[in-house]
Amino acid sequence: MKVTDHIKNAKGKTLFSFEVIPPVKGKSIQELYDNIDPLMEFDPPFIDVTTSREEYIYIEKGNLLERKMTRMRPGTIGICASISHKYNVDTVPHVLCGGFTKEETEYLLVDCHYLGIENVMALRGDAMKDEKYFVPAKGGHCYASELVRQIADLNQGHYLNQSIESHNVAEICIGVAGYPEKHLEAPSLQSDLKRLKEKIDAGAHYVVTQMFFDNEPFFKFVEAARALGITVPIIPGIKPIAVKRHLQLLPQVFRIDLPQNLIDAVDACKDNAAVRQVGIEWAIQQSKELKAAGVPVLHYYSMGKSDNIKAIAEGVF
Ligand code: FAD
Repeated sequence: MKVTDHIKNAKGKTLFSFEVIPPVKGKSIQELYDNIDPLMEFDPPFIDVTTSREEYIYIEKGNLLERKMTRMRPGTIGICASISHKYNVDTVPHVLCGGFTKEETEYLLVDCHYLGIENVMALRGDAMKDEKYFVPAKGGHCYASELVRQIADLNQGHYLNQSIESHNVAEICIGVAGYPEKHLEAPSLQSDLKRLKEKIDAGAHYVVTQMFFDNEPFFKFVEAARALGITVPIIPGIKPIAVKRHLQLLPQVFRIDLPQNLIDAVDACKDNAAVRQVGIEWAIQQSKELKAAGVPVLHYYSMGKSDNIKAIAEGVF
């Protein structure tokens, strides 16, 4: 079922969902199941599965730089299919512009259609570690809005090769990313919101936000989006702080602000077990306020660990 239909059917009740990361190349999918199992009691109508591009690191070898692949996490579509099969739950593969030609994307979407996957998150992807700016694949898309348009076209039965006579309509429900504290490359929140509107106008059906730790910017973001004519569901993304290192890492990687009282509470912790508890408590309070405000779904970034998400869900649902 489509994410938007799950939201409609919930009739105002806030749903629980979460995102998982595929195992690194060569690891077993069982590891993933072990993390999903404890969360199924909260009845997620859908589970997101992220996609990663090939990433390389360069190692000096004599006078040469040797390119080595790192952090490859293949199998997003296969993992979606096996999660749906095992748990009887809808899955949402993340589909990236970066690293893929339009033709490869089309094949991937056709696979989704054949596998009964009815939703995708359409994303641009980040610049690679050795790139200053995002560089699209040759023959690929530059922005998520272009990818959304391709999926929307396919939903109308328009394949890239127009000579194919096609009436096989996919009807994929399309999610896109939103940034309550603006995307790191955007000159301003307002211009970023206009870009978000372009994604909706291109055919996106719902928005999932970047993580945030202060609900106020999220509420303002929703208000500004509505003022711009964005009427689709906006789903907040929540990530609990789990280790002290997150205080530096999260603002640096995701360009988000951490509230001073959260920083102080984490700083005062003697060890990471205490940090984890602070992170859980913070996410519970955040989630309760968002739920009271009537958000359609609370979507959690599990980052491969479900124990803290379970603790939060127990406090909220
Ligand atoms: P876009 O919407 O294309 O926007 C990118 C930037 O370009 C923004 O600054 C925007 O304002 C600007 N822009 C857009 N259109 C134009 C235009 N026409 N002209 C000029 N500027 C423009 N990354 C992964 O690699 N894998 C994942 O699985 C993944 N999952 C994610 C899930 C969520 C919920 C979120 C919020 C992010 C996720 N990301 C993932 C990260 C995402 O790929 C990055 O944040 C990326 O840098 C931007 O992606 P986007 O789809 O928002 O891009």
